[in-house]
Amino acid sequence: MLNKTMQHLGEERSAIRELFEYGNARKKEIGEDKVFDFSIGNPSVPAPACVREEIARLIADMPPAVLHGYTSAQGAYEARKAVSAYLESKSGVPMSADLVYMTCGASASLAIALNALFEEGDEFVVLAPFFPEYRVFAERAGGKLVVCPTDERFHLDLAALDGAINTHTKAVILNSPNNPTGAVYTAEEIEALSALLQRKSEEKGAPVFLLSDEPYRELCYGVEPPYPTKYYRDTILCYSFSKSLSLAGERIGFLALPKALTKAEDVFAAICGAGRALGYVCAPALFQRVCAACMGQSSDIEAYKTNRDILYSALTSYGYECVSPDGAFYLFVKALEEDAVTFCERAKRHELLLVPSNSFGVEGYVRISYCVDRAVIERSLPAFRALIAEYRG
Ligand code: PLP
Repeated sequence: MLNKTMQHLGEERSAIRELFEYGNARKKEIGEDKVFDFSIGNPSVPAPACVREEIARLIADMPPAVLHGYTSAQGAYEARKAVSAYLESKSGVPMSADLVYMTCGASASLAIALNALFEEGDEFVVLAPFFPEYRVFAERAGGKLVVCPTDERFHLDLAALDGAINTHTKAVILNSPNNPTGAVYTAEEIEALSALLQRKSEEKGAPVFLLSDEPYRELCYGVEPPYPTKYYRDTILCYSFSKSLSLAGERIGFLALPKALTKAEDVFAAICGAGRALGYVCAPALFQRVCAACMGQSSDIEAYKTNRDILYSALTSYGYECVSPDGAFYLFVKALEEDAVTFCERAKRHELLLVPSNSFGVEGYVRISYCVDRAVIERSLPAFRALIAEYRG
């Protein structure tokens, strides 16, 4: 009667959303300030002023029928032009408005790209730990997800990648700054990866695409993530304004192809086709225009940096192990016992809501989303201390 895969996906829900719902219920039960909810990556810092100013300006100046009406399926031309001009000015890589597709956030960008690329027998390589929805999007497109490990600091392990990519590989999904580790890959790493992908493409006789999932690009602390398009022509950028402009609920982002991408026009046509088939046409019209006017701006990332510094130094001083993250707003901390799920259950008894790393394809860690109010971080520290004291006896 029903599509069982869909029923299963609906019933199973993501561990992150499950915990988020638990947190909301628990807050009602014992009080908002007693629960330390580090479950979800929902930005706590307000959108920058340009967002509200542009909304007000558009409402005042634009005829409502145009403002709230359909744009082209691939997005309003002015928005696509602003995106391509900005990317070209930042990366130096020639881009075109004709190769930009406005989407409902990075989720839609990824789902569209994977569906556009997929042919029977294709594999998609992801680097563990990875954003759990990659599996849902890749498998739904029909592909096989191949999970490749990273090194002990969660950076690229090129030997492992060399082994994971074969003639069935259609694309590698890269996410830097990374969710859940906060790792930001260096230019040297991206350069080495692109040499590997170039060699693999030659062996295959067709491009192995790089899907660069970049919703955290602007959220970096003292480092600058390189543009992979500078190093590898067959890169597809999957971007979202969810985190950079704190617009997660507005569902807005884009897909962009560099002009030099192999058969760029054909790939773009397949992207338009996948967008159509999945129902992702005409991304939210108001926010296409707002974001176009705010390209290059971001929310106050200093607030996240301070959260990271407080949490990282407190947790490591208590004895927790964790790699200091350079970007995004997550800490990836070693669980205090082998089974991260059991550890998270014990953390819950201290009202600490942490996501077990199993969701991200690795064992033995937890993710802490520190995009919360400073007060939550400060109030949570005694609970983290009590939790480790409980383990250490
Ligand atoms: N990719 C990564 C790595 C993410 O962390 C997220 C959201 O948290 C997404 C994609 C989806 O972003 P969006 O809200 O724009 O759909």
